[in-house]
Amino acid sequence: MARRPREKAPDKLRRDLIDLLTNFEWHLEHSELRQQVRNLVPANHLLRDLGSSLLPEGGYLSARDRILAYLRLFPGIVIDGDELMVVAGISEYARRIRELRKQEGWPILSGITASEMRDEFEEGRVEGEYEDLSLPQMLPSQYLLLEDSQDRDAAFRWNMANQIRRSTASTRDKLLRFFRENVGQRVTSEELRYVAGDATEWARRTRELRTEMGWPVMTRNTGDPTLPVGTYVLERDEQAPLHDRHIPEVVRREVMRRDHWSCRWRGCGWPTGFPPQDHRFLEAHHIEHHAEGGANSVENLVTLCNLHHDEVHRAGVLDVE
Ligand SMILES: [Zn+2]
Ligand SMILES: [Zn+2]
Repeated sequence: MARRPREKAPDKLRRDLIDLLTNFEWHLEHSELRQQVRNLVPANHLLRDLGSSLLPEGGYLSARDRILAYLRLFPGIVIDGDELMVVAGISEYARRIRELRKQEGWPILSGITASEMRDEFEEGRVEGEYEDLSLPQMLPSQYLLLEDSQDRDAAFRWNMANQIRRSTASTRDKLLRFFRENVGQRVTSEELRYVAGDATEWARRTRELRTEMGWPVMTRNTGDPTLPVGTYVLERDEQAPLHDRHIPEVVRREVMRRDHWSCRWRGCGWPTGFPPQDHRFLEAHHIEHHAEGGANSVENLVTLCNLHHDEVHRAGVLDVE
């Protein structure tokens, strides 16, 4: 099928639209309501065509392709839903976004989920926590492509999430089951929210898995600064020893903030200087062991990566800088 030269299309559409609106002046004065409405229909179509003609040449055939192309031009930048409506040329863009997430694995965060994460984070916030670890400020109608990369396993995980969501377990147990099916794998906040049946409590229940039950569920704020915003990993299928579970969250975060979110073992310093894919996470270790009366205080705790945490317990020697 012959196509119009791409670079001329938007301007042609713009002129046709102006002509239609100019003629509409006559209908405003002389036509009945039904005629007026019918005369605005082509203007609506033209406006939609104009919006969807704006993307650079790329052969985008569907509204979904155009939404994705637009988001990929601005990874990490908060985009208004109304912008997606313009480039997609349709108003039901939210459904297309869900398809991009679930069927194609694009990490698109919605403003609703982001604000739930933020509320949860603010509850335990420590004065002076790194700005770059903070979460995006978003309105419910906004979207954010977290990274310009597609997760090929996402469709499989969404399928599993759907099965767990429909089971009769408690929200926390559903979340735990989903994590345990994906040990060592990144899962997204959107997936967790879905597993929880779209309940707002997903963020709090996820935190409890770590703070009350000792499951090593990491985010960029709680032990793996290399993770993208909105991503969670159950690092291993094993709960932390009971004594480590009783470190208050606010103390643990203060310890990590003081230690600049890095391992203090001499010569380590993870994640600084390590390749981004190096698979570790941070834990708080008692300098004077808890069993021997050591307190859960900031002064008695030190940040170590999990490898050096294991090492110090095996060798019994703490060598920090
Ligand atoms: Zn320890
Ligand atoms: Zn280390």
